[in-house]
Amino acid sequence: MRRLAYIKTFGCQMNEHDSERMLALLEGCGYQETQNLDEADVILVNTCTVREKPEQKAYSILGRFQELRENNPDLIVGIAGCVAQQEGERLLARIPTLDFILGPGKIHHLPEILHEVEKGKRGLCAVGFEDGASVNLPLPHTEQLRAYVTIMQGCDNFCSYCIVPSVRGRERSRPSGDILAEIHALIQRGTKEVILLGQNVNSYANNDPRELTFPRLLAKIDEIPGLERIRFTTSHPKDLTEESIKAFGQLKHLCEHFHLPFQAGSNTVLTKMNRGHTREEYLAKVKRLREVTPQISITADVMVGFPGEGEEDFLQTLELMRAVEFDGLFSFKYSPRKGTRAAQWRNDCTSEVKQRRLEILQELQREITLKKNKALEGEVREVLVEGCSRNSPHKMMGRTRCNRIVNFPGGSELVGKLVFVKITEGLQNSLRGECCG
Ligand code: SAM
Ligand code: SF4
Repeated sequence: MRRLAYIKTFGCQMNEHDSERMLALLEGCGYQETQNLDEADVILVNTCTVREKPEQKAYSILGRFQELRENNPDLIVGIAGCVAQQEGERLLARIPTLDFILGPGKIHHLPEILHEVEKGKRGLCAVGFEDGASVNLPLPHTEQLRAYVTIMQGCDNFCSYCIVPSVRGRERSRPSGDILAEIHALIQRGTKEVILLGQNVNSYANNDPRELTFPRLLAKIDEIPGLERIRFTTSHPKDLTEESIKAFGQLKHLCEHFHLPFQAGSNTVLTKMNRGHTREEYLAKVKRLREVTPQISITADVMVGFPGEGEEDFLQTLELMRAVEFDGLFSFKYSPRKGTRAAQWRNDCTSEVKQRRLEILQELQREITLKKNKALEGEVREVLVEGCSRNSPHKMMGRTRCNRIVNFPGGSELVGKLVFVKITEGLQNSLRGECCG
């Protein structure tokens, strides 16, 4: 009998990747994915706790699933991800009908847990961290043109606002042999682009002198036949080395895009955030990246309303944005997270102040992004074609090496190919173009 699994994912690329792997494990247990909640036999909610909003959304969706379960007692509902790790068995007091709780470090136990639940057990909980067992997992059945590859887990940085070190554990780098083997296997199955994942990829294997350094790992991956593109995320400014910066000028498949969060433009705020870098050091790294690779696109994360952030501090954030002119920016309102150092401080920026600062910042970024997209009009860019455009069945969608989305007339025979596209129009969130080879 066909059994179906529905997975709802919140949060970052790490969670998206964990969901892909949990799906592969579910497939191994005889389940197929469904997008239709009503026909699901298993529902899995992969949660995020980096900010309050995704956490609350996860709870409200779990509440809805509880109602579904009342109508279908055989339905299995599990919670995974960072909320599962953070709350563990406490979740059972809040949602008594939960069948299982699975932390990100225990993903590999999903088949056994599911088996126990199928036999009638309820309220099973697996959280905590072990060796690398949660990383070396089966690949999803479906071919992936662009595939995530975990190179490290956890984080040792303890930025004062951030829950990640508690819910993802201490930094663990994956052996380079396993990483390279996984990329070889992905290429055999049609992958053209890999996105290396870690909270702080530049510190890859820093404590292990026998392992490759991050730039050496990149160089090894660059040599793998059949791979067209390499990307990675996320980098921490304090760990970004000259050797990594130079890799951009040297490695053919390394795409010219760097995601380098800066979080705040004021040194006072950066110090309180425990970021380990100053505004000046950040700007110096950006300058070096652009000296080595003038066309590189630079994106970042930034936060507004951190405890003690005054108007002057906020103006320094805007000033840094004007100085760098980011190609894109992910911006957030500070959200206190229980268990972090900053959560003990007075959250003195009101929600109105946070909202106003966020709007000002986002408006500035919109202007910069549009200006940069318009500047590309008339240029020719290499595009990896990913599929049909969202807006028209007669257009295709792909990404430039600098990670800009391009829509252009073309047919599905182009999917998976590298083509050259002349940019005809720069829009707010994407480019339009015409294929020219
Ligand atoms: N490891 C990455 C780094 O250091 O850049 C990012 C990890 S975090 C999952 C992604 C982004 O969420 C951070 O860069 C930060 O801007 C934001 N973030 C983290 N904690 C936050 C909090 N308590 N409130 C608001 N935003 C937060
Ligand atoms: Fe969180 Fe800082 Fe680690 Fe990024 S580097 S995951 S923001 S503690």
